[in-house]
Amino acid sequence: MKALLFLLISVVIFAIEVEIEILGSGGPEVDNRASSSYLLWIDGEAKALIDAGSGSMLQFERSSAKLETLEVILLTHMHIDHVVDLPSYIKAGYFSSRRNILPIIGPDGDDNFPSTIEYCSILFGEKGAYRYMKDVLTSQSDSFEIHPQDVNNTQHLVFNSFTVDTLKVHHGIVPSLAFRITVGEKSVVISSDTNNENHGLEIFAKGANLFIAHHAIPESAGEVAKTLHMTPSEIAQIVKKADVKKVVMSHRMKRTLEHENETITIMKKSYSGQIVFAEDLMRIRL
Ligand SMILES: [Zn+2]
Repeated sequence: MKALLFLLISVVIFAIEVEIEILGSGGPEVDNRASSSYLLWIDGEAKALIDAGSGSMLQFERSSAKLETLEVILLTHMHIDHVVDLPSYIKAGYFSSRRNILPIIGPDGDDNFPSTIEYCSILFGEKGAYRYMKDVLTSQSDSFEIHPQDVNNTQHLVFNSFTVDTLKVHHGIVPSLAFRITVGEKSVVISSDTNNENHGLEIFAKGANLFIAHHAIPESAGEVAKTLHMTPSEIAQIVKKADVKKVVMSHRMKRTLEHENETITIMKKSYSGQIVFAEDLMRIRL
């Protein structure tokens, strides 16, 4: 009995607290929400920033997170509503006490979209828009060095306190990545913008504690929108097949807000887990 009690107390004391904070729950429009952005918290420290859409930086400040504790910035794709605040973070870092290298990991590019390395070069390279801060791409940085890295499809990346698995997902012509972040026994999947055309997410998300879905279109969306985004029924199928207990519907937009009751009804036909609609600064424990 004593041994059991000791075991229970140790599990409670030593359990890692893992949370996801929604920094941006909106899309690219004017809607009183920041655009796509999430923060991974481990034991009270912000460890990974996923996407940096417009307004992300302000919500990061409101969340009391510190740039010094971040181990990586992950970017799903190079649309404005997912990456435009990135330079704000780097500039804010100049005024922080951060000195260690910050990896920035995202998709590779093509004729239509820059790769992650190219995007950082467009911002901070010799001919970049913010070339006055070009030292951040070098070890001579006045503050800290950023290390951009491109990912083509599946990779397993190891950080100090968590791992990240990547998966290429279909988002029209846009190179786009989903991420699965694992901390001990806990894991969260962030879908990115995608229509899941290749049906990779069902396997990728298998058994995850949480699935963050980008719910950018209603069920009744037209064919063009469906080449870019998942319908509610598609999201429900993914979390059902992947046996995920909770799904967070993020990337909310005016075209989906008025359909959210319908979205729930549709999803509940096949999915019995918890469905939560994202709000800026909402924190979800895994
Ligand atoms: Zn988007």
